[in-house]
Amino acid sequence: MQKSWDVIVIGAGVAGGLAAFDCARRGLRVLLVEKRSFPRWKVCGCCFNANALAALTAAGLPDLISDQGAVPLDQLRIGWNGMALNLRLPAGWALSRERFDQALVNAAETAGATVRFETSAVLQETSTAGRMVQLRPPGGAPVQRIKARVVLIAAGLQHQVLAHFHEASSKSTPKSRIGAGSFISDDSSSYEFGAIHMAIGRHGYVGLVRREDGALNMAAAFDRDVIKGDGGVARAAEVVLNQAGFALPQNLESSRWQLTSALTRRAGLFSGHRFFLLGDSSGYVEPFTGEGMAWALAAGAAVAPFVEEAQGEWTKDLEQRWRRRLVDLTISRQRLCRLLSTLLRQPLTTKALFSLGCQWPAIPQRIIIRLNQVSPSMKSS
Ligand SMILES: Cc1cc2nc3c(=O)[nH]c(=O)nc-3n(C[C@H](O)[C@H](O)[C@H](O)COP(=O)(O)OP(=O)(O)OC[C@H]3O[C@@H](n4cnc5c(N)ncnc54)[C@H](O)[C@@H]3O)c2cc1C
Repeated sequence: MQKSWDVIVIGAGVAGGLAAFDCARRGLRVLLVEKRSFPRWKVCGCCFNANALAALTAAGLPDLISDQGAVPLDQLRIGWNGMALNLRLPAGWALSRERFDQALVNAAETAGATVRFETSAVLQETSTAGRMVQLRPPGGAPVQRIKARVVLIAAGLQHQVLAHFHEASSKSTPKSRIGAGSFISDDSSSYEFGAIHMAIGRHGYVGLVRREDGALNMAAAFDRDVIKGDGGVARAAEVVLNQAGFALPQNLESSRWQLTSALTRRAGLFSGHRFFLLGDSSGYVEPFTGEGMAWALAAGAAVAPFVEEAQGEWTKDLEQRWRRRLVDLTISRQRLCRLLSTLLRQPLTTKALFSLGCQWPAIPQRIIIRLNQVSPSMKSS
C-alpha cells in the first residue's frame, strides 16, 4: 500500500464513489476506502430524480443509471387515511443500491482509483502539506497510517471518522425520526413497476418501489417510540400501510428491517484543515422527498476542482468556498423537504394539505415538478 496519496476518499456510497471517480479521471492519485464489503444493501428508497441524473451527467457518467437496468418511474401514489393521490413524475428511476454503488466504484476503479473494502478509516493529525489517516484493514491485519494532501469524508449519516474531533460531531434534531429499510419478494399486483407508493401514517411514512430485480424495496421513517413497540419495525410499517389504506405486501410479517440513526442532523463543520465533508456527512434532513442521493451526488460531482486546488497550499478561503458551494447545491434545497416533513407531522395540517391536493392536484403536481427541476448550480458545475 502506497503511503502517500493526492486524495483519500472515505466511504464508497454515492457521494464518495462519484468524487473518487471524478478525481481519478482528472489524473489525481485516489485511494477510496469503504468499511463494508460490496455489493452491499443499505437503507434507501432507491429512487433517483432528475437532479441525481444531472450530477452524474456533469461528472461524465450520464448512462450509469440506465446501463444498470434501472426501472423508469412515472407515477407517484400517495396514500393517507384511506385516500389516494396519484401524481405524474416528470423523471425518475428505481435502482438498488447494491447495483448503483458498485457501478460507481467500478467506474472509479476504471478511471484509476485504488479501492479498499472492509477497511475503516479515521482522520488523524495534520502533517507537512497533508493529513494523516488511520486505516483498519480486514482480518485483524495491522493498522496503517497513510497521508493524503486532501481527505474527503463521505461516510454517511453517522460515522466515526471524526472521532478525535469533538467540535465536528453532528447533532440530530430533537424528535428526529429514525430511518428503516427492508426489501421483500411480493408477487401481488398491488405495487406495480414504475410507481413510487408513499404511505403516510400518524407516526411515520413508508415508501415502496419495485427494484430492477422485481423485489419490493421499502424505506421508512418512524417516530422513535413506535418501533420500540410490540412487533418492532415490521408492525410499525403495517400500521402505517393500514392507516394509509395501502395493501399489505406479501411476506411483510417476516420482513427483516435495518435501522438508521436519527435522520435529521446538522454537521458540526463542512471542512477543516485539508479535509472536506460531503453527502449525508455534511448534514441531512428526513427523506420524505427522496432526494438524498441527488444532494450527495451533486456534492460528489462538485468537489474535484477543490481537491485539485488543494494539492498546493491549503487556505481558509478554500474552506469558505466549499461551504458556499454546499449551501448552494444541497443545504438550500433541503429547506422544502424539511418544511414538508414538519407539516406532515401535524394531523390537521396533513388533512388540510391532502384534501387540498385531492381537490386541486395541480398544486402537489407543481411541487413535484419543482423538486425535479435541475438546479442551475448543478448545471454550472
Ligand atoms: C429511509 C430512507 C429513504 C431514502 N430514500 C431515498 C430515495 O429514494 N432517493 C434518494 O435520493 N435518497 C434517499 N435517501 C437518502 C440516501 O440514502 C442518502 O442521502 C445517500 O445514501 C447519502 O449518500 P452518502 O454517499 O453521503 O452516504 P452513504 O450512501 O451512506 O455512504 C457512506 C459509506 O461510507 C461508509 N463508511 C462509514 N464510515 C466509514 C469509515 N469510518 N471508513 C470507511 N467507510 C465508512 C459506509 O459503509 C457507507 O458505505 C433515503 C434515506 C433513508 C434513510
